[in-house]
Amino acid sequence: MSILRIENLDLFNKRVLIRLDLNVPMKNGRIISDKRIKLSLPTIKYSLKKGARVILFSHLGRPIEGIYDKKYSLLPIVKYLNKCMKLPVRLIYNYLNKENIFNNFKNEILVLENVRFNIGETKNNNFLSKKYASLCDIFVMDAFATAHRKNSSTYGIINFAKISCIGLLFYSEIKYLSKVLSNPVRPMISIVGGAKISTKFNVLNKLAKISDTLIVGGGISNTFIAIDHNVGKSLYEPSFVKIAKKLRNKYNIPIPVDCRVGKKFSESSLSYTKNVCNINNDEEIMDYGDNTAKLMSNIIIKSKTILWNGPVGVFEFPNFRKGTEIIINAIINSGAFVIAGGGDTISAIELFGVSNKISYISSGGGSFLKFIEGKKLPVISILEKIKYNFK
Ligand code: AMP
Repeated sequence: MSILRIENLDLFNKRVLIRLDLNVPMKNGRIISDKRIKLSLPTIKYSLKKGARVILFSHLGRPIEGIYDKKYSLLPIVKYLNKCMKLPVRLIYNYLNKENIFNNFKNEILVLENVRFNIGETKNNNFLSKKYASLCDIFVMDAFATAHRKNSSTYGIINFAKISCIGLLFYSEIKYLSKVLSNPVRPMISIVGGAKISTKFNVLNKLAKISDTLIVGGGISNTFIAIDHNVGKSLYEPSFVKIAKKLRNKYNIPIPVDCRVGKKFSESSLSYTKNVCNINNDEEIMDYGDNTAKLMSNIIIKSKTILWNGPVGVFEFPNFRKGTEIIINAIINSGAFVIAGGGDTISAIELFGVSNKISYISSGGGSFLKFIEGKKLPVISILEKIKYNFK
């Protein structure tokens, strides 16, 4: 993969426009988690250190294009950045027709208001992409989590910017994910949990092929249990049972032997353990049983590389989080190189307070899964196609 990196360029006095993922969770105008901002800081700080004139931009939430809505303003993020940057940080509204600001600014960091207020952003409109490109000398793509989307600010701009490259976060993502996918230290295991097999089927297929063992959990393992057993009113996908059977017969995929069930999908639901052979029609599988958790942990603990996406149960409900907790403990005690990704996986890691024990936590959700599937992310494809002739 040959993509220009920010470290390959002379940034001094250049207008460097950095596409970040500052799509932080907000409540009543307040930032709930600053994780995405923190992940963005290294590239911002690196650019400043190299003498760049820095402009930042990002999306936030899903406003209606063309309609300004304060709820989706980047202002709270700008206020946050003002507290942790040495230079003042200024939010620029209606920037598409204010080229002068970008020609003359210095000793401050500019932040463009939410790109999703601009008509054409999510449709990858060429006119808009060209406008963004005209604001800078160098475009830096650092929003790995949006690299699977062809938007104007992530993809289209690359067609028009004088120079485009990737930032530090983006580079880490492809470095670590490529390492695990192409040359893992063995045994390598993958753990895929979560709700629906249909949304992760390509990932399962790919990981079954390259892993020594594929561990399934959550609603996904319910579909595997359903190959041989009644799963009552559990979340599972009947149309995927046949395909799950093919996978199970071909690859090393241990199936749960017991599980924690409840009578309703609710936080207050009582949980009790059942063998997978004896699930009644009014019962719902919501977690691994202890024997299954032990079975999977014994495999995990012996592995040298782990790729993990998706909780193995409804970890949001205290009565159904023990399986995920046991699996996490095995993961962090394995000494393996561990890559984890996906929104709920990260929530589970944070819930159990073990973030610092995971070798690499990907910032991507959809892009993480697409990358694992082996699909070329559109942003990576276009960046790879560009040929520069530097003098
Ligand atoms: P995903 O986005 O596919 O990774 O799914 C994550 C969600 O799957 C979490 O909110 C879990 O609560 C949910 N989940 C995990 N196990 C089950 C299960 N057995 N039944 C229903 N939902 C589950």
